Amino acid sequence: MTPWSTSRRRATLPRNWATLRRRVIRRDGSQCTARHSDGTRCPEPGTDVDHIVPHSLGGSDDMSNLALLCPWHHRAKSGSEGGRAAALTRVSTHRPRQSHPALDD
Ligand SMILES: [Zn+2]
Repeated sequence: MTPWSTSRRRATLPRNWATLRRRVIRRDGSQCTARHSDGTRCPEPGTDVDHIVPHSLGGSDDMSNLALLCPWHHRAKSGSEGGRAAALTRVSTHRPRQSHPALDD
């Protein structure tokens, strides 16, 4: 499923995305950069490079706009960015952001 497929200006990734992605992973220590409300960093391994400011809001592909997230946080963030993607999924009314599975033990 590609949420941006209906947009004419497709959010294209830069040609050097693979390099950028590797750089972000190294910079962020292969760990999710999301922080919980108490300030602790998410302990999950980061696998998804996220645009802090999404393309749709004018965000760039600069390193300063990229952050490493675990799949859970990436999904939670994407879901909260609104737009078509959130409308298509059923999670928009219930936000599980307070119960990260990694904190349950
Ligand atoms: Zn996380």
